[in-house]
Amino acid sequence: MPFTKLGLKSELMRALDASDYIRPTLIQSEAIPVILEGNDLIGTAQTGTGKTAAFVVPLLQQLERTTGKIRALILTPTRELAHQVELAVRKYGRYLNLRSTAIYGGVSQRPQEEALRKGVDLVVATPGRLLDLLQQRLLDLSSVKYLVLDEADRMLDMGFLPDVREVVRSLPKQRQTLLFSATLPQEIQELARSIQKNPVLVEAGIKRAPAAGVDQHLYPVLPHLKTELLLHLLRREAMGPLLVFTRTKHGADRLHRALELERFRVARIHSGRSQSQRQEALDGFRQYHYQILVATDVAARGIDVRDISHVINYDIPNNADDYIHRIGRTGRAEKEGIAYSFVSPEEEIHVQSIERSIQKKFNRVKLDEFNFHRPIKPRNSEATHASRKPSSRPARKPGIPADTAQSPKVFDRFAFMAKDLSQNPVPATNSMTAGFGGTQRRRKAISRNPRKTERRSFHVEGLIGAPSPEEQRELKRLQVKLFGSSSPRRPFSSRHSGSSRNGY
Ligand code: AMP
Repeated sequence: MPFTKLGLKSELMRALDASDYIRPTLIQSEAIPVILEGNDLIGTAQTGTGKTAAFVVPLLQQLERTTGKIRALILTPTRELAHQVELAVRKYGRYLNLRSTAIYGGVSQRPQEEALRKGVDLVVATPGRLLDLLQQRLLDLSSVKYLVLDEADRMLDMGFLPDVREVVRSLPKQRQTLLFSATLPQEIQELARSIQKNPVLVEAGIKRAPAAGVDQHLYPVLPHLKTELLLHLLRREAMGPLLVFTRTKHGADRLHRALELERFRVARIHSGRSQSQRQEALDGFRQYHYQILVATDVAARGIDVRDISHVINYDIPNNADDYIHRIGRTGRAEKEGIAYSFVSPEEEIHVQSIERSIQKKFNRVKLDEFNFHRPIKPRNSEATHASRKPSSRPARKPGIPADTAQSPKVFDRFAFMAKDLSQNPVPATNSMTAGFGGTQRRRKAISRNPRKTERRSFHVEGLIGAPSPEEQRELKRLQVKLFGSSSPRRPFSSRHSGSSRNGY
């Protein structure tokens, strides 16, 4: 079903067009009509399926124009997700005359008070800070007509349900309530019963299944070799932006340091970092300043970065939900992505439980050129990495290790291309898709056909040097993976030398 069938106003259609959305995702085509009819809704959707637009777009449609009173409230479990959703509100509402703000803890309250004083139509908030402001009478929720609970199961996991109930008590009874959750445990069903009226259940996609389009591989590896394996993979493959998950914040710090020592452009995000440090890391990652973001689960909630080529589980999570959420960061909105999981013998038990939950056996990979049996050598261990001082030499360009040039150079070019594309969406023409075109040709193409943006090409020639044939091939691979292609893709599979069930 095309977006035009949804009866959206022209300002929203323009914004969706400007976001390069060609057709609604499953959750969008199912949920938007239900919401526009005024029903309460329970939406179960996998992460990365476009669920944010599924509720933001119909809300914006119904809010019409600004009144300066809070009429829509979206509750999220984490600050990052609140920030992310508010960005989406701005993106989809860019041609509408509406005001929104995000309210979350860990940052000064002042700017949030200021925004509320000026008057907003839509608030995205985490429950804790929202309650603080309510108790200080800095917030009036008496005009709220629309309430959204996003990632309700995560709110449950994080112990926020009492706060959510308290917020709901201060809302008018006459309202539309939308609840989105990847899973529907008993407690969420009870919450839904107590705060919704005859909700319509919209199930988009199979629950507890990883996003389609993500190629998943598992590397059985001894714990002390995980960092080396990661460096090895970074050097042998063309990788775009990648997200690496560790179990603990100390693990994230250690890995961050080891990668920095190898001169990769890397940032980290975990609960031990301040809100401004987390924001800087996310913004830098989003803008392709950092190639690698090392994250823990809690901090990674709500990370929505386009074009993440790889998600790497440096430590495998101990449950299927976290696994699904993590790998949902790549392959978003029906694109393709790759997920690698490093698994030590002690972590096998988690793998088995994930495999049972998602009803899928992972492809186990063993690389011929990597010695998976090497004993612990202090010189190569993570402890040694962590205790080494960073070199005073200037950092190489993002991720260009000394002994290889391929992947990081490709990332440089990719970052350039992706930034350029996000600033100047490039329409496709036959001449453009043929290869590396010049700026002039691009301008002509834009004026000939300004609305067609489905397929794209690289246009870096003359700007950062002509790419070598090998780089062109690598770039093409990234292009296909991240920006889509009609032809089936298995660019990396031929590099794997085989599978093994017990390949430690
Ligand atoms: P979400 O599941 O809301 O976190 O969205 C995942 C990603 O999909 C985001 O980067 C959105 O910008 C993108 N997205 C949402 N809807 C569409 C669509 N209809 N077509 C293409 N991309 C989309």
